[in-house]
Amino acid sequence: MARIELCNITKKFKKVTALDNINIDVKDKEFFVLFGPAGAGKTTILKTIAGIEFPDEGHVKIDGKIVNLVEPAKRNVSMVFENYALYPHISVFDNIASPMRSPLYKKDEETVKKEVYRVASMMKIDHLMERLPSQLSNGQRQRVALGRCLVREPNVFLMDEPIAHLDAKMRHFMRSELKEMQSSFNTTTIYVTHDYMEAMSLGDRIAIINEGKIEQIGSSDEVYYTPANEFVAKLLGEPEINIFPAELEMDGRGLKVRMLGQENLIDICDDVAKVLNKKGSGKLDVGIRGNDVKFSFEKIDDNYLKGTVYIVEPIGNKTVLTVSINKQLIRIIAPNDFRAEMDSSIYIKFNMDNAMFFNGEDKTFIIRHNQDHYLRR
Ligand code: ADP
Ligand code: MG
Repeated sequence: MARIELCNITKKFKKVTALDNINIDVKDKEFFVLFGPAGAGKTTILKTIAGIEFPDEGHVKIDGKIVNLVEPAKRNVSMVFENYALYPHISVFDNIASPMRSPLYKKDEETVKKEVYRVASMMKIDHLMERLPSQLSNGQRQRVALGRCLVREPNVFLMDEPIAHLDAKMRHFMRSELKEMQSSFNTTTIYVTHDYMEAMSLGDRIAIINEGKIEQIGSSDEVYYTPANEFVAKLLGEPEINIFPAELEMDGRGLKVRMLGQENLIDICDDVAKVLNKKGSGKLDVGIRGNDVKFSFEKIDDNYLKGTVYIVEPIGNKTVLTVSINKQLIRIIAPNDFRAEMDSSIYIKFNMDNAMFFNGEDKTFIIRHNQDHYLRR
């Protein structure tokens, strides 16, 4: 267990800047998630910590000591690779045992056997011990790779999308297993994923990475409820958050917003209005998640906006209803038995209490109603 710091890390592969001045401070025993799209630089961050890649600039520290010049084997990190990297010519048992037979971290064979079976039963692969990696499915290989990572007591576990190749059911099972194990790990863990649910359910904190830069670091509540910008907001949640331009307007009773080219002005909360008022008249975007939109086939009050049903997608426990208003598509979560004719009229109402407001120019977060509530949780 250890604190892991990346200080001003820049890494280039010829013309590609894979990491651009990355700063991360992972606390001892923290479960820290790196989350972002493919090509963001997540794997490169892990490899830099492991010592397999060398930064062009900056320092990697383990427990306060700069380790840039320490070779990978001596950093005492345990990494599970995206592509499993199992030894093809030895059995599952020997693959999992291999870290405990290396010269630097050698254990007696009795301990090896005990440890291998402990993690193998955790990973539900104890019936596969004699097989070669080529005789396993991808999901099984991935669990072997994860098991091999977990047999050690390293400074830090580095896990690169360790359950991405499992089928949906197994992935869900392993996600809860990992969550359960997390408390007993007692070891700093840096976990890479491109799945927002994994990120949110596992991470003590999440760093959102994009094009070699950090967009935001925070708890799952912080990044979900107060995303630093529209990019982060769009990465978290399914269906993707609705974000569209809006205009501020004064009427007799105060500041309102005009959205989606509609006649009626929509009320906003006082604390939000205060901040937006100060900001002045620049471009504004509103973000509203699909579960914060009501719908009705009749106009119930003036806050309902008229649109047409664009698409209805039942996805099991809910339906994603997409409504077109003024050429903008709004995704709404509806009950699973919801049905409607394409192109029929429908009225929708945004729950402005949960709306987020972004700067329409640089797309950064400005404010949401009651925002301190989300930051303190
Ligand atoms: P992620 O794991 O987030 O998908 P990576 O860290 O693998 O992203 O890659 C970040 C960027 O660096 C990508 O543009 C990728 O193509 C590039 N890259 C990574 N490794 C190498 C390499 N060995 N040689 C050249 N480019 C690389
Ligand atoms: Mg990767």
